[in-house]
Amino acid sequence: MSEREDLLADLLAHGRFLGTLSSVGVVRPAEAAEEPESARPRGEPPAAPRPEDPAAALVAIREDLGDCRRCKLWSGRKTIVFGQGDPRAELMFVGEGPGAEEDEQGLAFVGRAGQLLTDIIEKGLKIKRSEVYIANVIKCRAPQNRNPEPDEILACQPFLERQIDAIRPKVIVGLGKFGGQWLLKTAEPISRIRGRVGEYRGIKVVPTWHPAYLLRNPAAKKDVWEDMKTVLRLLGRPVPGPRD
Ligand code: SF4
Repeated sequence: MSEREDLLADLLAHGRFLGTLSSVGVVRPAEAAEEPESARPRGEPPAAPRPEDPAAALVAIREDLGDCRRCKLWSGRKTIVFGQGDPRAELMFVGEGPGAEEDEQGLAFVGRAGQLLTDIIEKGLKIKRSEVYIANVIKCRAPQNRNPEPDEILACQPFLERQIDAIRPKVIVGLGKFGGQWLLKTAEPISRIRGRVGEYRGIKVVPTWHPAYLLRNPAAKKDVWEDMKTVLRLLGRPVPGPRD
């Protein structure tokens, strides 16, 4: 799908997705109808302070998740892809959900898109992938990689919320439509929210294109690089110049 087609699909899906989200309470209609001035969500309570032992907190969350059957995606999965990385990461990435390779391995972002994400992290940001934390909005693969549905997102979200509360990163990158929209509690298309810094419970959020979209639209990599420079500034790290 071309970028233009993708944007049109986003716009067409916007109303439908928004209506469904409104009906299940993810986005209130009044909020959704307004034109937001920024990507900052409203009404988000501040998160609890980071626990003393984030690794133990993550283990407890995984135990609570168990052999989860809280939504219909359980029946088609091979593994639950909980998320992985440094429990004390300053930087976290949130994508949409596992694909076929991730479902096989039980790890987030290990397919072709995952390799590109690794390049973004290690070659672009100059951070080891093992030093960040990577998770998804939903933890089980959707059939034929279809979009996650609102009831599935709602069923899974307490666990992602708890993961973020455990890690308390400085910055979260929302990858693609679902990562960005979930973090910012908006139904605006990714084409509109990317390029703006938002907040999730006091944590800076940088929405950007999903690596799978970049595989189809390499020209969008320049946008992602601009977003990654924003990430580096927010982390207080040096931003490479044009000759670096
Ligand atoms: S997607 Fe989330 S809520 Fe649904 S079955 Fe998997 S782990 Fe449970």
